[in-house]
Amino acid sequence: MEAERKSTKRLSTARDLAGVVAEYYLECHRAKAEGKPVGWMPPMNGAIEIFYAMDLQPVFPENWSPVCAAFGLTPAHFEVSEGMGYSRDLCGYLRNIVGYLYGDMHGQGVPLGGLPEPDLILSFGGGCIPAMKIFQVLEERFPLARIFRADGPQVAVEDIRDHHVAYAVSEMHRLIGFLEEATGRTMDYGRLREVVELSDRACELWDEIMSYRKFVPTPISASEIGIMFVMVTRQGTPIAVDFLTRVRDEVKQRAADGLGVIADEKVRLFWDNIPLWYNMGLFNSFEKMGGVVVAETYSAAWSLRLDTSDPIEALARKSLMSYSLVSCLSIERRKEMVLKSCRDFSIDGAVFHQNKSCAPITLGQADIRKALAEELGIPSITIDADHMDQRNFSLAQFQTRADAFMEMLLLKKRF
Ligand code: SF4
Repeated sequence: MEAERKSTKRLSTARDLAGVVAEYYLECHRAKAEGKPVGWMPPMNGAIEIFYAMDLQPVFPENWSPVCAAFGLTPAHFEVSEGMGYSRDLCGYLRNIVGYLYGDMHGQGVPLGGLPEPDLILSFGGGCIPAMKIFQVLEERFPLARIFRADGPQVAVEDIRDHHVAYAVSEMHRLIGFLEEATGRTMDYGRLREVVELSDRACELWDEIMSYRKFVPTPISASEIGIMFVMVTRQGTPIAVDFLTRVRDEVKQRAADGLGVIADEKVRLFWDNIPLWYNMGLFNSFEKMGGVVVAETYSAAWSLRLDTSDPIEALARKSLMSYSLVSCLSIERRKEMVLKSCRDFSIDGAVFHQNKSCAPITLGQADIRKALAEELGIPSITIDADHMDQRNFSLAQFQTRADAFMEMLLLKKRF
């Protein structure tokens, strides 16, 4: 078994993604050049819809990290952040952003032109500690930027109560007031409703695309998961809806034609935790032995429909829930979600990425593996790695474990 750094894409629409990514970064730089206020923010919290409704430019430093990993920039960034005293045990997103900000941010030849400097910085709370720390670093690095800090409660999805929602609604109103004062623009609530409707339509399409993965053979695998870029950066725009509609149409047609990711799908796999952004080819590495990664934890973050009848409350609920669907939820709830996914997608085996630099998603994996084996009879393996730092990953060790796991699954299927 060999692993290429880049994943092999089977969907022609997913191959178009590079153009969508390039156009987004071009738009960010154009906005800066034209004087449109640029705001840096964490993903998944409802601020993106407010930004697009007010014609402001959202930028996502967390999302920039996978881009850096794909372009091979992370080793240099880690060197900078470690030189500043950031431990190798910290989240790779945090260390990469610090290294970028204090390293080659304004260097020549940074792919896609890098990130334009922020006029506004939004920090939402509610996510994990490293995600919040990223924004503390940003505030220090860009002292002239206007800062908005929301104090979002860190509450498990199943524990969200009316008072949490009421508080998040008040924070949304406070955010709009801040943006109106800082930029001189006025929120058009009719426009906000349209944006929230587009955002919800993107979620609906996302769910529909994911549902086709229940087909055997699956027409789309984890190798194509990069399509989530539009869910991070383009939610609330026709760009996301148009792109996902094309992906949906292609996936639907492949499902109708019985066209799988590989010709002979023998084993269906589940991937827990964040992908290895510097080596997405791992998803394909099971394919030579008939294995396909059919489902994964990460895609749940975008499966969040919005009640468009009250756009502000819809965004407030999103701010409470979407981070929590992946990284800030109870182990019990995470176990339920993994088991449900393995049932729904007819999974034969699960791969647990024990992620050295993401404690929130790695915590509880032993309990989940146990429940998978006892309740569903699904075997699993653990691989030691890191979603950003390739020094914490051994390809040879991965290949040995993955080959043995595939052989065991194939044998199990035969009897
Ligand atoms: S959830 Fe994990 S990967 Fe994401 S910012 Fe937090 S520690 Fe980093």
